[in-house]
Amino acid sequence: MSWRPDRHMKKASEEVAINPLFARRGEESVPRYRLSEEGLLPETAYQIVHDELTLDGSARLNLATFVGTWMEPEAQKLYVEAANKNIIDKDEYPETAAIEERCLKILANLWNAPDPANSIGVSTTGSSEACMLGGLALKRRWQLSRRQQGKSTDHPNIVFSSAVQVVWEKFANYFEVEPRYVNITPEHPYLTPEGVIKAVDENTIGVVPILGVTYTGSYEPVEAIAQALDDLEKRTGLSIPIHVDAASGGFVAPFLQPDLVWDFRLPRVHSINTSGHKYGLVYPGLGWVLWRDKTLLPEELIFNVSYLGGSMPTFGLNFSRPGAQVLLQYYNFLRLGRQGYYTVQKTCQNVAHFLAQEIGAMEPFELVTDGSDLPVFAWRKRPEENPLWSLEDLSFVLRERGWQVPAYPLPPTMQDVTIMRIVVRNSFSMDMAQLFLDDLNRAVAYLQGLDHPFPQALRQHKPFHH
Ligand SMILES: *Cc1c(COP(=O)(O)O)cnc(C)c1O
Repeated sequence: MSWRPDRHMKKASEEVAINPLFARRGEESVPRYRLSEEGLLPETAYQIVHDELTLDGSARLNLATFVGTWMEPEAQKLYVEAANKNIIDKDEYPETAAIEERCLKILANLWNAPDPANSIGVSTTGSSEACMLGGLALKRRWQLSRRQQGKSTDHPNIVFSSAVQVVWEKFANYFEVEPRYVNITPEHPYLTPEGVIKAVDENTIGVVPILGVTYTGSYEPVEAIAQALDDLEKRTGLSIPIHVDAASGGFVAPFLQPDLVWDFRLPRVHSINTSGHKYGLVYPGLGWVLWRDKTLLPEELIFNVSYLGGSMPTFGLNFSRPGAQVLLQYYNFLRLGRQGYYTVQKTCQNVAHFLAQEIGAMEPFELVTDGSDLPVFAWRKRPEENPLWSLEDLSFVLRERGWQVPAYPLPPTMQDVTIMRIVVRNSFSMDMAQLFLDDLNRAVAYLQGLDHPFPQALRQHKPFHH
């Protein structure tokens, strides 16, 4: 058994070289892009995948993502035990189905549905699927109502701010609905009631405020938007529903801002989505979408699958999907309760406030948001500061220590402003925050000391995408 580096150097792109220590059958390499004839022993295959993954960024140092990267050992144990459950097999896994229903009722309750027993919802792969379903229900109800009135259904539109997450662009594209963006402005970097009223008309299937804008962490003013639409209805008879995209805020506002009225307390809010895998504190991918009552989800969208000799309604884009994430959500509900969720989110917010304050006080920076809504904050470089480096350069320099902090331009019409954002999540402790701050200070001191522009060639390989 010999390992010839020269041979592997040449073929590095076509074959994966196997370290002789793990090549239990003496294999030298395995094809990278074709199936091998014989396969490998489990420990050899494990070692190859395991080793390659060490080049991924550390999930715990990923300050860019909203998605859960840490769960307790008991949850991990449950995850492994439940890894083989398919959520669509309601008949085979009736308890998983029952637990999914329980989670939906818990969310209906958390979001103040007037009659949780009469609410309806489903778990999804994430908020993206949940938003598609929410949007689809809006479109179908609008079509039904227009047809009843003998009116055209040719030109549906949907209204949201230019700061929406990309999923709403996708929805508009895939389901052929005209997207109407209300541009954000420096005075109002979020959806405003005035902007909404200007954009809507009889072809508007719904308005989508975001509870927790992805770019900055700000909540859009759902209650004021609902009031403006109430006034519009009084004046014109036009009744336009709201779907709240609470991908992040759905698991934050009920605990940190319980008096903020954004949910089913507003009769105009027909449906809400959230990501179980964001501040719901579950590993990816899990989302939820709920309608305040069954009548708001057109029956023709519902399919029935067999369940305990009878049938059970389902609504979703996928058929087979992991069931384990739903069980992890229920684990968190049991384990944390209201107090636990409050403690986790409050701790995140404390860390966000602390970091925002420290970073806002640094010479080159000014804050855009400070973590008062979501535990997320953003800052920009003062326009008059040293032009030899940018926030993208800072992002690159921070990556040297493993920190992943994104810098990106704001959406229209504020695309001239580049910001840097940190999402504080469970497991990013005050201690880690302190260590981050030390590294940030060092990185900024280095950049401020440059006497030439930061070399752009260095960051041609972008470390991550927004
Ligand atoms: C993350 C996010 C989404 C997409 O959610 P996934 O769970 O990643 O599919 C949609 N809307 C908003 C506001 C988000 O933050």
